Amino acid sequence: MEQQNLLDSSKKEGSSRTAIDEVLKANHRYAEGFTQEGLPGWPPSLKLAVVACMDCRLHVAKLLGLELGAAHIIRNAGGIVTEDVLRSLIISRYMGGTQEFMIINHTKCGMLTFKDEELAARLQQETGKAPVAPARFYTFTDLEENVRQQIRKVKSHPWIPEGIPVRGFIYDVDTGRLSEVSA
Ligand code: ZN
Repeated sequence: MEQQNLLDSSKKEGSSRTAIDEVLKANHRYAEGFTQEGLPGWPPSLKLAVVACMDCRLHVAKLLGLELGAAHIIRNAGGIVTEDVLRSLIISRYMGGTQEFMIINHTKCGMLTFKDEELAARLQQETGKAPVAPARFYTFTDLEENVRQQIRKVKSHPWIPEGIPVRGFIYDVDTGRLSEVSA
């Protein structure tokens, strides 16, 4: 009943309703049914860390069957191993106790559709400013090779233990299927 009223009032306000208002409502419902109080944060139960693209078509927990508390999920544009992803993986390994790393890129990734220089030039033109960061956007042209490069970046880091499995995958946004990229 109360929910219905909220919907009605939003209709009257028209376009003032935002996406954030929408998700806050969803969170309210989520919290009402929440039963996992006291779940430990680390180690995640599968001792797994996943690096994935931020693309809205990847429901990382669902596509990997991950329950709450099962894995660390680190996301950014492209599923790129940046300095900050390395930071997170190192924390995940040494503080969080994870023992396997997985990198997921995907078909039809937006990062295949433009070039670093194009976006930088456009932003400089639109804003009239040329900041030092971000130095790169990490766009790419070869999906498989991009995955391999991310694996190499993780494996070659001096603080990542040599024996830790680092495997790379491409997720097909049209089939829901993951395929492994051979190293
Ligand atoms: Zn993507």
